[in-house]
Amino acid sequence: MTPVVVAVDGPAGSGKSTVARAIAAELGLEVLDTGAMYRAVTLAVLQAGVDPDDDRAVADLAQVSVIEVGEVVWVNGVDASHDIRGPEVTGAVSRVSANPSVRDLLVERQRQWVADHGGGVVEGRDIGTVVFPDSPLKVYLTADSSTRAARRHLDEQVAQRQVGVDDVRADLQRRDALDSGRAVAPLRPAPDAVVIDTSGMSVEDVVKRVLQEARSVGLVE
Ligand code: C5P
Repeated sequence: MTPVVVAVDGPAGSGKSTVARAIAAELGLEVLDTGAMYRAVTLAVLQAGVDPDDDRAVADLAQVSVIEVGEVVWVNGVDASHDIRGPEVTGAVSRVSANPSVRDLLVERQRQWVADHGGGVVEGRDIGTVVFPDSPLKVYLTADSSTRAARRHLDEQVAQRQVGVDDVRADLQRRDALDSGRAVAPLRPAPDAVVIDTSGMSVEDVVKRVLQEARSVGLVE
C-alpha cells in the first residue's frame, strides 16, 4: 500500500506546525517538521564556523552531520531543540536551505522518513511541489503579515527570547523573499493545493476545513 502523505506548506507564521499536529492526531499519522531539518543543518554549519554561503563546505558538512528530528531535535548527539529556533539560526537558515546539495540530501531523508513511518503529515515549503507531488492532500496555509508576525512574536515570548514585533516582521519578510525567490524549490503552492488564508481563523476552524478536504479525497470517513 502506498503510504499516505498530507503535505502542509506555507510561509513562517501561517499556522503550519499547529495545524499539521492537529491533522496528524485526527488521521493517526506522525508529523515531520522539515523546517527543523534545515534549521538543524544550519546550526551544525554555524557551530563548525563554516560560512553559510560557502556552498561546497556547507554541503560537505551536511553530509557528515548526524541529525534527528522528532519531539526532540538532535544535532551531532546534542539536544538542539531550543538552539535551532534562536536568532543566529533563523538569520542564516534561508541561505543554507537555498543550497541545492543540502536540499537533495534532506529531500531524500524526508522520503525515507515517510517510507519508514508508513506515511505522515509533512510540513515545509516544497512538500507539495517537490518532495511529495503525488500527495492526495496538499494544503498551503497563508496569513497576512501582521497576523504572521504576531504569531511568531508570541512564539518568541513563550521561548523567553526578547525580540520586538517589528524585528520579527522584518525577519519574516526577509525570509519570505529568500525562500520564494530561490532557484531551487521556491516557496509556492502546488497547482492542486488547497490554499487557506488563516488570518482571523481559529486553529479549530482551519483544522475543520482541512479535515473536510481530507474527507473529500477519501482520507477519512
Ligand atoms: O518552518 P521554519 O520557519 O522553521 O523553516 C525554516 C527555514 O527552513 C525556512 O525559512 C526555509 O528557508 C527552510 N525550509 C525550506 N524547505 C522546507 C522547510 C523549511 O527551505 N521544506
